[in-house]
Amino acid sequence: MRSLFLAILIALMVSCNSNAQDKDNKKSNQQKSTTKMEQNNQSLEKTDAEWRALLSEEEYRVLRLKGTERPHTGKYNLHFEEGTYKCKGCGTPLFESDMKFESDCGWPSFDKAIEGTITYKKDTSFGMVRTEILCSKCGGHLGHVFNDGPTATGKRYCVNSVSIDFKDQ
Ligand SMILES: [Zn+2]
Repeated sequence: MRSLFLAILIALMVSCNSNAQDKDNKKSNQQKSTTKMEQNNQSLEKTDAEWRALLSEEEYRVLRLKGTERPHTGKYNLHFEEGTYKCKGCGTPLFESDMKFESDCGWPSFDKAIEGTITYKKDTSFGMVRTEILCSKCGGHLGHVFNDGPTATGKRYCVNSVSIDFKDQ
């Protein structure tokens, strides 16, 4: 039963191109290129120690180490109130509630982002070609964007709940 559940979970994750966990393997290569890009773009710089002090362990793991929260566990996955989703790292408004749609993937999904707030980066980890999305201001990892969205934009911004913070209007 347990293995069946696992198989279904894996199938689900593959079918919606979920962002797989980024552990230690390939991390060094990825981080080298990321660091370079982020230094060129982001305006908010903090040391690793400062981020560790500011963020919870899970927030740090996702935002700074490009981790992924378990599907269907995030607090904003099925959250549909009116308001704004801000970066958990720096408070920059990234998504509005009217950009959010219900997705089966298990992570909060948006069909677009507030203009100019997101940095896009090619991610070739785990044998897949995906587009990583990061907060442009602090370089925090948000998730990935896919071209299989069900709305007019055709986009699906698949975002970790722990990377964002909701404020109602
Ligand atoms: Zn940020």
